[in-house]
Formats: sequence, C-alpha cells, structure tokens
Amino acid sequence: MRDDNCIFCKIANGEIPSRTLYEDEEFRVIMDLGPATRGHALILPKEHYANLFEIPADTAARAMQVAKKVGTQIVEKLGANGLNVVQNNGECAGQTVPHFHIHLIPRYQDDGQHILWKPGKLSDEEMDAIRDQILADQES
Ligand code: 5GP
Ligand code: ZN
Repeated sequence: MRDDNCIFCKIANGEIPSRTLYEDEEFRVIMDLGPATRGHALILPKEHYANLFEIPADTAARAMQVAKKVGTQIVEKLGANGLNVVQNNGECAGQTVPHFHIHLIPRYQDDGQHILWKPGKLSDEEMDAIRDQILADQES
C-alpha cells in the first residue's frame, strides 16, 4: 500500500525525482536532503510502512541487506572511516518522516557529528527489573 500524502512514498516510487544511488523492485536509496555528513543516504521501501513496528520482518531483513551493500559502497567510494546505520521510530526517537527509512551515515575522522548517546548508569536491581518487565508473560 502507498500513502498519497506521504512524500517518501512519492520519492521511493519516482513520482518526485531524487538523487538515486540504488533501486530494485522493493527499495530506493536516495541522498538525504539535509546530510549529516558527506554521502548521507536513506533507504526507502516503495510500500508505505510507518515504522519498524509496521514493516514485515522479511522486508526489514532485505532492507538490511541493502544497507550492507550500499553502505559498503558509500564508505569505499567516498573514503569514509566508518558508518552509522540509524533507524528512528517515533517523534521522541527523532523520526520526522513517518515512512520507514534507514539512514546510512558515513563517518569521517573529526567530522564534528554527534550521533552517539550519553551513557546512563542503573543499579543491578533496576537492570533486573527492566529485563523482567521486557520478558514478562513471554512463552519459554
Ligand atoms: P528521520 O528524522 O525521520 O529519521 O529522517 C528524515 C530524514 O529525511 C532527514 O535526515 C531529512 O533530512 C530527510 N528528508 C526529509 N525530506 C526529504 C526530502 O524531501 N528528500 C530527501 N532526499 N530527504 C529528505
Ligand atoms: Zn510513505
């Protein structure tokens, strides 16, 4: 299903032109309009799924295969030193476009970006309680 009001549906299906790095029947990989670093790209499925919770698992798995292929190509061709593969779900997690996408962000020594988080610290009891809450009512 595609969503007529979704800009990424239009881009992924070629209704709006984009700088395409890769395309197959299921995905289009484009250059991000507001790149965090040189070569920042987005993997878009052609079907509309709002986020990781909606995308079928097999489609998500194939998206990760595209991430490996195109991410490797970007890093090699641009001479990057590393790569962040980022996928945001929900506004509080930084998602601004509600169409599933994976960011490929090549990293360079001293590129000045801050994509990593501030580490927290919890007690053993708190860690146990969180694990137990996640695993509650789960079979086996
Ligand atoms: P999010 O914050 O939802 O994880 O990421 C959305 C990304 O899409 C941002 O990095 C933003 O720069 C990019 N973006 C938003 N609109 C467009 C667009 O029309 N074209 C392209 N190529 N990228 C876009
Ligand atoms: Zn869409």
